[in-house]
Amino acid sequence: MTETNVKTGTLVDWLRDAHAMEQQAETMLKAQSQRLEHYPQLKARIDQHIEETYGQQKLLEGCLQRLGASPSAVKDIAGKLSAFGQGVAGGFMTDEVIKGAMSGYIFEHMEIASYTVLIAAAKAVGDVETQRACEQILPQEEAMAAWLRDHLPELTTAFLGRLADPEAASKR
Ligand code: MG
Ligand code: FE
Repeated sequence: MTETNVKTGTLVDWLRDAHAMEQQAETMLKAQSQRLEHYPQLKARIDQHIEETYGQQKLLEGCLQRLGASPSAVKDIAGKLSAFGQGVAGGFMTDEVIKGAMSGYIFEHMEIASYTVLIAAAKAVGDVETQRACEQILPQEEAMAAWLRDHLPELTTAFLGRLADPEAASKR
């Protein structure tokens, strides 16, 4: 294998990982949005990011297609199952709103790291289209991470308020 082929092969692997990650993101965000009842701002921001996530999946699929590859079915299934597990586990916690927002914040940073690596890898192989696609996605992940960080204090205050209120039956 030539040096270029090795690098492109690695880029394809990482694009597949990112695609599996975005499928996991979709499952996780949908589970969170569906369960939220009393946090309309958080729900709206999550729904916005679900739409962005669909766009990200399409961009990654376009990159893989151009490179003559397809998303990895096995990894996609594994990603879906683990996200499902997280959603179900979240359902049994009183503080799932807060734990969910914290998990989201962590997940967004995994995405930020992944696209930072992909941009550098795309540059290294001279794949300008993949580079541009990832440069388009990265700010969406950064914005979601920043939104969660900025809203964690008020979410916490609202959650503690509901916790202390006997009339507030649902904490989510
Ligand atoms: Mg994403
Ligand atoms: Fe994201």
